[in-house]
Amino acid sequence: MPFFVEVILPLPLVKTFTYSVSEMEFHAIRPGMRIAVPFGKNRIYTGLSVELHENPPQLYEARPIQQILDDQPIVTPQQLAHWNWIASYYMCAIGDVYRSAMPSALLLESETVIQQNTSFSVDASELSDEEFLVYQALQQQSSLTVQDIIAILGKKNIFPVLRKMMVRNVISLQEEISESYKPKLVRYIRLHEEFERDAKLQDLLELLRNARKQKELVLQYFQLKAIDKKPVTLKKLVETADVSAAAVKALVDKGIFEEYQLQHDRIDFEDRLEERELTLSSAQQKAFDEIRNSFKDKDVTLLHGVTSSGKTEIYIKLIEDFLAMGKQVLYLLPEIALTTQLVSRLTAHFGNTVAVYHSKYSNNERVETWNQVLDNSDKAQVIIGARSAMFLPFFELGLIIVDEEHEQTFKQADPAPRYHARDAAIVLAHQFGAKALLGSATPSIETFFNAQSQKYGHVELSERYGNVMLPDIEIVDLKDKYFRKKMSGHFSDTLCDYIAEALSLSEQVILFQNRRGFSPVVECLTCGHVPQCSQCDVSMTYHKGKEQLRCHYCGSSMAFPRNCHACQSTDLTTKGFGTEQIQHELLDIFPNAKVGRMDQDTTRGKFGFEKIIDSFREGEIDILVGTQMLAKGLDFNNVSLVGIMNADNMLYHPDFRAFERSYQMMTQVAGRAGRSQKRGKVIIQTYNPYHNIIRQVTDGDYLGMFSEQLYERKIYKYPPYFKLIRLTLKHRDFEKLKQGSQWLASVLQQHLDMPVLGPEEPPVSRIRNEYIRTIMVKIPQGRPLSRTKKTIRKILDSFESVSQFRPIKVVVNVDFVN
Ligand code: ADP
Ligand code: ZN
Ligand code: ZN
Repeated sequence: MPFFVEVILPLPLVKTFTYSVSEMEFHAIRPGMRIAVPFGKNRIYTGLSVELHENPPQLYEARPIQQILDDQPIVTPQQLAHWNWIASYYMCAIGDVYRSAMPSALLLESETVIQQNTSFSVDASELSDEEFLVYQALQQQSSLTVQDIIAILGKKNIFPVLRKMMVRNVISLQEEISESYKPKLVRYIRLHEEFERDAKLQDLLELLRNARKQKELVLQYFQLKAIDKKPVTLKKLVETADVSAAAVKALVDKGIFEEYQLQHDRIDFEDRLEERELTLSSAQQKAFDEIRNSFKDKDVTLLHGVTSSGKTEIYIKLIEDFLAMGKQVLYLLPEIALTTQLVSRLTAHFGNTVAVYHSKYSNNERVETWNQVLDNSDKAQVIIGARSAMFLPFFELGLIIVDEEHEQTFKQADPAPRYHARDAAIVLAHQFGAKALLGSATPSIETFFNAQSQKYGHVELSERYGNVMLPDIEIVDLKDKYFRKKMSGHFSDTLCDYIAEALSLSEQVILFQNRRGFSPVVECLTCGHVPQCSQCDVSMTYHKGKEQLRCHYCGSSMAFPRNCHACQSTDLTTKGFGTEQIQHELLDIFPNAKVGRMDQDTTRGKFGFEKIIDSFREGEIDILVGTQMLAKGLDFNNVSLVGIMNADNMLYHPDFRAFERSYQMMTQVAGRAGRSQKRGKVIIQTYNPYHNIIRQVTDGDYLGMFSEQLYERKIYKYPPYFKLIRLTLKHRDFEKLKQGSQWLASVLQQHLDMPVLGPEEPPVSRIRNEYIRTIMVKIPQGRPLSRTKKTIRKILDSFESVSQFRPIKVVVNVDFVN
C-alpha cells in the first residue's frame, strides 16, 4: 500500500503537492511538520505537510520526500485554517501565504545563503564531522548557499545539519541588517554620595567658600532638583546655570559632583513607576468598562478615542485582564508606530512576558519568538508586532488589539498575499473565539460604518488624559498671503511668527509636509485651483509624457491646460514641494535653529527612525520637518507648535480616500502639539480655507467628515457600499497588453452583473519596461462575495488558456487600498 503526504510549497502555487513516503514516515509525519522535498530540477524546498493519505496523484508521479525536518508540528491547525482563509479571500496561492507567514530561517531552500555567526565563538571540538566541514568551509568563504553545502557534504539531506548549527548559533542566514539598536545614553549629574546628607551640605558650601562660581553652580543644582524632582541632566544644568560643561567637569574632578549615564527610556520608566501605579482616569475607566461590556456580545469593538486620550493605558488594563485568564494577547500596530518607547512602556508593565515581532528583527530573533508562542511560553504571552505577527502559532489567543486601525499600511500591497492585517486579524480572533479591539483617534470610514451599524461595538473617549486641551488650530489662507506678499518661500508670516515664538521659549516645532507633495497634479499659482474630473470626485493626474491630465478612476482625459479654468491665470505649476526644500528654506529664515528631517531618505536602516526621534526628544533638534511618519502615535512633551505646510496636495490626491486620509493625517499630526501642560498650536496653510475637510479638522468634527464621506462613497460606489477588486495586468508588449486587458474587461463585464471599470492606464503606466493596465470590479454590498470571486477566478483561468494572453501577468488585489 503506497503512502502519501500533501505538502504546501513556499511558491506561488495554488495547490498542494503530493509526495510519496514510506510507511514509517507516514506514521512519523503529522500535519504542521516541515519536510524537505525536491521540486523541479534539482531544487529543494522546505514544504509543510498538511495531510496524509493513500491516494496517488492523478496527473503526475509522486516523488519521494527527502527528509522530515521536525519532530513536532511547528504550524498549528488554526494557522492552516487562517492561511486558507487568506488565500481564498484575497485570491492568492496558499504557497504565497505560507512563504510570507514563516520566518525565512524556517524555510531553508537550495538558494538560501548561509554565513558564519561571528558573534559566537565556536568550540570546534563540539562539532560533528559534517558540521565541522561546513564550519571550515565558512572560514574560507564568508558565505555559502545550501547548494554549495550539498556539494561539500556530498549528500542531499543537509537541512538537519544546518538546523542544528543554527540552533547552536554557529551559523545564521545572511541578512542585510543585523545592527542592534542601543538606546541613547543621557549624561546625568548628581552630588557625590559623600555630600548627599544634609549635615554634609554645610561642609560642602564651606569648602567652596572661596570659589564663588562653583558654589553658585552647586546651588543651581539644588534648585533644579527641588523644582523638577527628578534626576538632573548635564545638559539642563549647563543651560540653567549658564556655565560651560568644563565648569561642571571641574566639580566632578574635585569629587563633588558625579557624572553617570542612563538610557533615556529607562528614566522614563523610573519616573513612571515612582509617580504612579497605573490608575485610569474616570473617562478612561468608563471607556474601559464599556469595552468590557461590549465584549460580552460583540466580537469586535471600536475604541474611538481622541489623540492623547490614553488609549494605550486602556489597552494595558485590558491585556492584564486577559493575561489573568491565561490567554495570549496580540497587539498589532503599523510598523512605524512600533517604537522602543512603546515597547518599553509595555515591558514596564508586563516584564518578560512581552515579545516583539516584526520584519526588522533578525531571523534568529523571529524564530525564537515563533517557538515561544508555539510553546505558549511565559515569555510570549503578549506579542507586539507589525502585521506579520498575526501569523504566529498562537495557542490560547484571547484578545487582539489593532491600534491605529485606520492606517493604510496594514494592507500589504506587494507581494502576495495582499491581505489587510486588520481584517485578517478579526477573522483570526473569530477562529479563536477571541475578542478584537480596534483603536484610533480617526477611525477608517469602513470601521466606523461597521460600528454605527452595530456590527461592531462602539466606545467613545472624547477627552484627553489629564484634561490637556486639544490644540488650537489656525488656518492660514495661502492665496491671500501670496497676494499680499507675506510669504518667505513656503512659509507664511503667521507660521514664521509662531515658529520664532516657540524657539524663543525653547519649545519644539514639528512641520509636516506630505510625501504626496510630489504627486503630479497641476496647480494654479494664483488661485490654487486643481483641475478635477467631471465624473469622479478626484483631481486629475498630470501625465508628463503625453502632456495630459487624466482621471485615475474613470480614465477620462484632457489636454494639459494653458490657463487656469477657474481664474484664467497662466501661472500653472506641476511641482509639489518636499521636505528637503522646506529644510533649506528654514535654514535661511531661522539660521540658528537646529533643523532635523524625517522622511524615507533620512530613516533608512534598521533604526534610522528611532535615532531621529531620540535626538528630537533629547532636544538636539528644534524643528523637525517630516512626512506622514510624524503622524504615527508619537508622544513628545515639548512640542508646542505643529505646522502643516500645505493641506491641498493631500486633499487633491487622486484617490477616493483622499479626503478621509487628509482628515486623518491632519488630525493625527495636530495631535502631536501640546501634549503636556500648555495648549498646543497648529497652523494649517492652505489655498482652500473653506474646504469642508479643513473645517472638520479645525472643529474636530469627525462625525461631520464621516457622514459626508459616507454619502460620497455611496454615490460613487466605493467601500463600505462596494467591495473593490483591482486586477493589474502587465506585459512588455504594449499591443498585446492592450488587447488582453480589453478582452478581460469585456468578459468580466459580460459575466458580472456589477460595475467593471477599465481597462485604464495607471498614472505610472510602465514600470521596469512593463506596461500596466488596471481593471476595477465593484461588488455591491450584499452580493455573495465568494461566488463573484469564483466567477472572476474562472474568467482568469480562461484568460490564461488563451495562448496569446498567457504571458500577461495578472495581479489580483482584493479590498484594494491605494
Ligand atoms: P493615545 O494613544 O490615546 O494618543 P496615550 O496612551 O499615548 O494616548 O496617552 C497620552 C499620554 O497620557 C501619555 O503620555 C500617557 O503616558 C499619559 N497617560 C494616559 N493615561 C494615563 C494614566 N491613566 N495615568 C497616567 N498617565 C496617563
Ligand atoms: Zn486660478
Ligand atoms: Zn473620473
